[in-house]
Amino acid sequence: MNLEPDIGGCGCGQAQLTVHGEPLARFYCHCTTCQEAFRAPCSDVTVLLAADVALLSEGAVRFSSDGRPPDQNRGVCKACGEPVVGFVRGLPFVEFAVVPTHVLPAGMARVPSQGHIRYADRVDDVEDGLPTYEGAYDSEAAVLQMLSDALGPRMYVGEPPAEL
Ligand SMILES: [Zn+2]
Ligand SMILES: [Zn+2]
Repeated sequence: MNLEPDIGGCGCGQAQLTVHGEPLARFYCHCTTCQEAFRAPCSDVTVLLAADVALLSEGAVRFSSDGRPPDQNRGVCKACGEPVVGFVRGLPFVEFAVVPTHVLPAGMARVPSQGHIRYADRVDDVEDGLPTYEGAYDSEAAVLQMLSDALGPRMYVGEPPAEL
C-alpha cells in the first residue's frame, strides 16, 4: 500500500507507477482474461496515454501477452502477481496504458465508469444503469469511441494517417 498521494502501485508496494496527464476512459471488463488476472468477476480499469504513465520500478513488473486482440501487453507485479499496467496499441500511432483503477495514485481524481465491456463473458449480471457491450468487437468499438471522444484531434498525435 502506498501512502504517497502521487505514487500508485500494487498492493505489496513493489511495483510503483506515476501518472502525468488526464484519464481518457474508464470501464469494467468482464473478459475471462481479466477474470483470471484479477481473480474477480471483472476488472475496473482506467485508460490513459501510455506516454503519461511511468513505471518507477520496471524490474518489478513481468509483461506478457495472450496474443488475442486487442493484443495487450499485460504487466503484473513479480512479487504479488497483481496486475499493474497493460499497454495496448489501440491505433497505429497511439499507445494506451490500461491501469486498474485501484492502482492509480491515491491523490489522482477518478473519472466515472462509462460501461461494461465483454459482457457476454460475465459471471454475474450487473444492474448499475451503465451501457453494456457483449462481444469482442462491439466492446473494442465502444472503447475506441470513448477514447476518441476524450482525445478528439489528439487521437492522431504523431504521424497523421495518410487518408486524412
Ligand atoms: Zn506487488
Ligand atoms: Zn478484460
